[in-house]
Amino acid sequence: MTGTGKYFKNVQFDPEENLGLFRINEYGDGAELLWGYKNKGKFTSELPAHLMSHEVRLRIDPENRVVMHCHPTNLLAMTYVHDLDEKAFTRTLWQMSTESIVVFPDGVNVLPWMLCGTNEIGEATAEKMKTARIVVWAQHGIYGCGKDLDEAFGLIETAEKAAEIYMKIAHLPLKQTITDEALHQMEERFGVKGRDGWVDA
Ligand SMILES: [Zn+2]
Repeated sequence: MTGTGKYFKNVQFDPEENLGLFRINEYGDGAELLWGYKNKGKFTSELPAHLMSHEVRLRIDPENRVVMHCHPTNLLAMTYVHDLDEKAFTRTLWQMSTESIVVFPDGVNVLPWMLCGTNEIGEATAEKMKTARIVVWAQHGIYGCGKDLDEAFGLIETAEKAAEIYMKIAHLPLKQTITDEALHQMEERFGVKGRDGWVDA
């Protein structure tokens, strides 16, 4: 896990300074630092949300090893101007790029603004992780999950690109979009299934 007050961009230059690897004990009430947090570093304040999300995702998929939190610009921007209803938010992202429904057929779940770094937001995030691999924190950022860093990053990047397109076109008159019929064709062609009841509006 990244350290508190550390920047993700610096991880590549000095992983031992910016990351820590620790093991949760068998009772789940303590942790042992195995490596990293050089120079008295400490884990991120988002530890509760990360650990609770891991717990939920691992129950759904034992391969789901990565929970990544970041602040993608356009997804954040979207939470200021778009309805935060999860179905509406997801459908917009699906409509903004053809690959979206293939990459995140489970859609995105959304939390309203909440105080970060708390157990409350951790519990709320974990609850949302039960039905989607992406949880958006309004006006803050995103949690994305995957079996490895590459998959988690790709997932977040795909959602972020869709949000970027939305922010480029939202103020313009809409002439056409990706229809539900097209979404169904994508489901069939790529062997995915959009979240129950979310494709047909
Ligand atoms: Zn954050």
